[in-house]
Amino acid sequence: MAAKQVCHLIWFRNDLRVTDNKALSSACADPQAKVIALFTATPQQWQSHDVSARQITFLHQNLVALQHSLAQLGIPLVCHTSASFTEAAQWVLDYASEQQADALFFNRQYEINEKQRDEWLVKQSHALHIHAFDDALLLAPGTVSNQKGEMYQVYTPFRRAFTSQLVVTDCRSLTVPEKRGKALEINETQPLFAHAAADISPQFVAGEQAALQQLRQFCRERVQNYQRDRDIPSVNGTSQLSPYLAIGVLSPRQCFNRLHAENPQALDSPDSGAFTWLNELIWREFYSHLLVAFPRLCRHQPFIEWTQHIQWNNSPDDFNAWKNGQTGYPIVDAAMRQLNETGWMHNRLRMIVASFLVKDLLIDWRKGEKYFMGQLIDGTLAANNGGWQWSASTGVDASPWFRIFNPTTQGTKFDPQGTFIRHWLPELMSVPDKYIHTPHEWADSNHIQLNYPTPIVDHKQARLNTLEAFEAGKRNSLKLSSP
Ligand code: FAD
Repeated sequence: MAAKQVCHLIWFRNDLRVTDNKALSSACADPQAKVIALFTATPQQWQSHDVSARQITFLHQNLVALQHSLAQLGIPLVCHTSASFTEAAQWVLDYASEQQADALFFNRQYEINEKQRDEWLVKQSHALHIHAFDDALLLAPGTVSNQKGEMYQVYTPFRRAFTSQLVVTDCRSLTVPEKRGKALEINETQPLFAHAAADISPQFVAGEQAALQQLRQFCRERVQNYQRDRDIPSVNGTSQLSPYLAIGVLSPRQCFNRLHAENPQALDSPDSGAFTWLNELIWREFYSHLLVAFPRLCRHQPFIEWTQHIQWNNSPDDFNAWKNGQTGYPIVDAAMRQLNETGWMHNRLRMIVASFLVKDLLIDWRKGEKYFMGQLIDGTLAANNGGWQWSASTGVDASPWFRIFNPTTQGTKFDPQGTFIRHWLPELMSVPDKYIHTPHEWADSNHIQLNYPTPIVDHKQARLNTLEAFEAGKRNSLKLSSP
């Protein structure tokens, strides 16, 4: 009797690529094994995590590209839709048993529900061998700690420890696994999973080839000027790779290695654009390590506990004005329109609009965090929560609560001629440069009727109100905690 062929399953999650994928490479290490790829769509769970329609569409597009790449390698992709993560894990186990699979390979995810799903799966797996890998980050969570063996709560010492560890870690990217048998044909009549297709901005072309090309071009042509250009939203100064990193079409090792190949001195030159870009990749790691060390962040609780006692403003009108880019502060409104239209927003602008929502409108940062997730093509719990808590001064290594961005000054500094503003707010096209950040002043003095709102808050007064609300929150927390 012929021996049964070994069967390996590779469960793809947020790692939609064939290059530099630890779980896939391991599943394919035995050339005799039959390899089957799995993907589970979980629409209800995604909805409860506020995943945007854009990200789901982009994920689907990239899954189709992955299916093609796998087919070239002779690996079929089986896609299943389940309501929740637990049901998805149950389906994977049932499928494994149906196929008499010997082993299941996957790359770990670090958010709380995803971790619970995998723990549950491991407990139920019995004879099925589970091979789990840390693949989504340059260094696995928990491996960068201070002298007490604890996670850092401040970024700069984390970065120092991180970079010293990075240089002694093998971060080489893995190549595409060998072809196993004939290329497979794909029947493309049906979507891989049902979803309401959203529009994706043309700059985000699906597939790892597009992502790699964008990475190469950025590291070769633009990273040198990153330090100079990264804060200017009208300049194409950043990589715009976040949508690919968010769903793993690209790995951080690929980013690091390409950066290093094009800029070998990056780690030794802290003033270079290359080092500055690496620094941003390390922020990404920092926020993910934090999620694992402090799971309450996954539950949207503030890191700084006394900030729970701040009395937020619940005005739906203010929140709607912010969401719709109708606050009367041009830099805020232009940024929100960029988000609403493309699902992506420049980092400087994310900081400005987040600060405006929390510290000018005094609206709970969690509302902004949720709204962002529902719009972003690159939404990730770690970076989004980290960015919001940083801006709201409620998080680890947050900006101090009494530091409040002035939205007009921010606009003047980072979009001096209003190039970005005019692109997204055509109604301000004719406003002279001098008034582009305060168009109502120009309109009033010239008796012009602008189709644009006057500021919904007075920044000076809003700042004072916010300082008072934060101070009161701190006082209340002290009162409640004193015996
Ligand atoms: P680049 O400047 O080219 O940076 C390269 C990569 O580094 C990015 O693609 C991203 O993966 C990572 N990165 C850069 N800056 C940060 C940062 N501050 N924190 C963590 N990672 C970073 N980033 C997300 O990927 N998803 C989010 O949901 C998200 N939400 C945010 C919310 C707020 C309020 C703020 C202030 C920031 C948020 N960021 C988020 C971080 C940052 O704004 C984006 O990563 C960046 O704008 C993406 O553009 P890029 O790819 O051109 O970045």
